[in-house]
Amino acid sequence: MSSDGKTIVAFGKCTDYDPSAVEAAVRAAVDAVGGIGAFVQPGQSVLLKPNLLTDADPDAAITTHPEIVRAAIRLVQEAGGVCRVGDSPASVIKHERVWERTGMRALCEEEGVELITLEQGGAREFREERQVFDIARRVLDADVVINLPKVKTHVMTSFTCAVKNIYGCVPGMAKAGLHKQYFNAADFGRVVAAIYGVVRPALTIADGVVGMTGNGPSSGQPTAMGFVAASADGVALDRCLCRSLRLDPRAVPYLPVLRRRGVGEHDERRIHVIGADLDSLLNRPVALPNTLRTRLIPSWLGRLFAPLLWCRPTFSDNCVYCGLCVRTCPADALTQEKGEKPVLAPKQCIECCCCHEVCPAKAVDMQLSRMFQRLVDHDKCLR
Ligand code: SF4
Ligand code: SF4
Repeated sequence: MSSDGKTIVAFGKCTDYDPSAVEAAVRAAVDAVGGIGAFVQPGQSVLLKPNLLTDADPDAAITTHPEIVRAAIRLVQEAGGVCRVGDSPASVIKHERVWERTGMRALCEEEGVELITLEQGGAREFREERQVFDIARRVLDADVVINLPKVKTHVMTSFTCAVKNIYGCVPGMAKAGLHKQYFNAADFGRVVAAIYGVVRPALTIADGVVGMTGNGPSSGQPTAMGFVAASADGVALDRCLCRSLRLDPRAVPYLPVLRRRGVGEHDERRIHVIGADLDSLLNRPVALPNTLRTRLIPSWLGRLFAPLLWCRPTFSDNCVYCGLCVRTCPADALTQEKGEKPVLAPKQCIECCCCHEVCPAKAVDMQLSRMFQRLVDHDKCLR
């Protein structure tokens, strides 16, 4: 908190992943929100939770860059904490491959830190209002969780950073099960909000050095943003980034739910921003997901006109026939012949975007029905 009782969101300028530049920027941002000693006490076990969605190179801007994780490890160790780095990547992708490609294995070996798969060690079930979900025990067992998200736009939730990164604390296949159970964006927003209500990280350090824009979280464009950001309040941090991206927070399904539940600071007048002017943080407007307009349709209207309002995958010639989308689809809506592109059974599709998320070849495009395209003007989703 600042001296006038406001929630602090602090930015550190950082234009590339040079290790010393990243460490300086992370340190400056964390110092501005109270210093690492405000979050980690000597001897505490600290889980560092990066976004390790898939087996992508750091340059692809899909996963948190290892230098951000390294800087966080060093800060925690200085404070006397005992670090582990962990995540639960998409379950159809071998985790060993994820650790290799994202640079996380090499980093953890260099820093002498354990790298853990969150689904090992079991899970505990939670019931929050009408949402039921599992959280990995390895998350619950940590004294402190430090959230290390990547700043990205997202075809399902419009945007992903602090709050959405905590969805990775749901272990393995249980994530696909939640997509199936809470399949429209509004219901999915409710479950993401409920999960964030249970796993509230002590500190978030966001990787916005190079983020992703357009049809993220894996098929967008890497985009130089030039910052790291830190806050004890991930909601406030997400709200600030919505403003910089010119994104209406109502198009991010979990933010209105968290606001109604009183979780996090949503009022920009009560957020003290240090180290950046939010309106000029990104020096030009960035591309937002083509699905954005669907997120402002009230869910009752979407259900009423479901046959006419849809957002379904199409498959381009980029397809390398790997079958990951077919195996990840929670609704069994895809089939595939050897050497052919997947085929969609439209009535089975629950529009969860999981196929889009795991495709390694940017071959999946989420296409809107004509009525959806007409109903909401894309520009109305922008601030
Ligand atoms: S669309 Fe993507 S994920 Fe699906 S088979 Fe083709 S390359 Fe693989
Ligand atoms: S086809 Fe894609 S969008 Fe449709 S249910 Fe399967 S994974 Fe989800």
